[in-house]
Amino acid sequence: MFDVVIVGAGFAGSVLARQLASQKDKQILLIEKRRHIAGNCYDYFNKHGVLVHEYGPHLFHTSNKEVFHYLGQFTEWSEYQHRVLAVVDGQTVPLPFNLNALEMLFPKSMAESLEKKLIDHFGFGVKVPILELIKADDPELKELADFIYEKIFVNYTAKQWGCSPQDIAPEVMGRVPVFVSRDDRYFQDTYQAVPKDGYTKMFENILDHPNIHPLLNTDYKDVVSLDADSGQLSLFDVPYTGEFIFTGMIDELFDFRFGSLPYRSLDFQFETLEQEYFQEVATVNYPNNYDFTRITEFKRIHNQQLKNTTILREYPRDYLGVDSETDTPCYPVFKDENINRCKQYQDFAAQFAHITLVGRLAEYRYYDMDDIVSRALEVYQSKFA
Ligand code: FAD
Ligand code: UDP
Repeated sequence: MFDVVIVGAGFAGSVLARQLASQKDKQILLIEKRRHIAGNCYDYFNKHGVLVHEYGPHLFHTSNKEVFHYLGQFTEWSEYQHRVLAVVDGQTVPLPFNLNALEMLFPKSMAESLEKKLIDHFGFGVKVPILELIKADDPELKELADFIYEKIFVNYTAKQWGCSPQDIAPEVMGRVPVFVSRDDRYFQDTYQAVPKDGYTKMFENILDHPNIHPLLNTDYKDVVSLDADSGQLSLFDVPYTGEFIFTGMIDELFDFRFGSLPYRSLDFQFETLEQEYFQEVATVNYPNNYDFTRITEFKRIHNQQLKNTTILREYPRDYLGVDSETDTPCYPVFKDENINRCKQYQDFAAQFAHITLVGRLAEYRYYDMDDIVSRALEVYQSKFA
């Protein structure tokens, strides 16, 4: 009855479902354990009318024209350029740390000298990962790097990952480089926007096809079983020989046979305040104070004109895998041992041609939204087109 079974209605599962349904006329069963579609991008209007993102702030940004236009079939966009401030020594300064931040935190003559050195050394408009800057030979630049490292990265990373910046793959810190520029935007991608009516609405449109049959509130394990030695599948207790696309946790699929892959999770604390605005920009990071990492004020993202405002504090912690309602595997933990373990799972999975693993959890990768849309389209093209 179904040609393809897909687990997970986030971007990976939804884009592949759409492609296979619309381009190949396949009948798709899309299994999702949550009560809703859209994966971690799920948003909704709360009772105060604020469009909030249930699993943390999601800002779409990409320089990939194909991805932007692909999604444009399913939504109109509202242009939005994300700005983030970080609280450092009681002041709020732009993040990524840039020349404006430098001038706010250092005496004028010192800031000018450092600015000149940064430009001479790296060039204007260049993004320098903090783990590079910290290797600078020049003593003044080294002092600046140590300052930024201490004030922006060390404590935030301790909260977010439970370790020091040096103990996690450098790409993670590289996401927020020091920017030799006066551009205060968090991202510099060509396309920066949010879906005009929200992410969930966009996902509804992606999945709006007669060949796609969503099954919500269902853990795949309740309807699918996999014999991990032979690769044989059954669906609703009947042998199933079609394609199986899995976007959940790769270790879970194979019963943790090589051990479990750790994740960081977040506790999300929403608060609605009877005031028009709470803070100057959508997100303010608190590297050094409090147990939470950042506060996001949602109405600034969608430019909503409302009397009240809803904010979100994010409290990082380990993912425990005990309560699927409140315990979300948000971030793969990029350390060599985990990357190697994931590779073991991927090598094992490679023997089963009818099983496709794609997504942030299934590939244990720090994919942004545009990355995963691009990846899903690439998997479709290479395996199913
Ligand atoms: P997911 O969205 O996680 O979807 C996987 C789906 O599979 C989920 O719905 C899950 O419930 C389901 N599933 C898992 N296991 C099972 C099971 N056993 N049975 C049935 N269903 C199952 N990206 C950006 O580009 N910009 C941002 O600003 C941004 N902010 C982020 C903020 C946070 C706090 C987080 C955690 C991520 C953020 N991202 C952002 C990344 C973005 O969320 C991901 O790129 C995207 O959600 C990945 O899509 P996916 O389909 O791989 O995974
Ligand atoms: N980071 C930091 N201080 C900040 C912002 C980010 O130390 O104020 C580090 C931290 O380790 C974080 C990583 O940079 O996990 C990537 O930040 P990003 O904002 O990209 O994280 P995400 O939005 O994916 O949670």
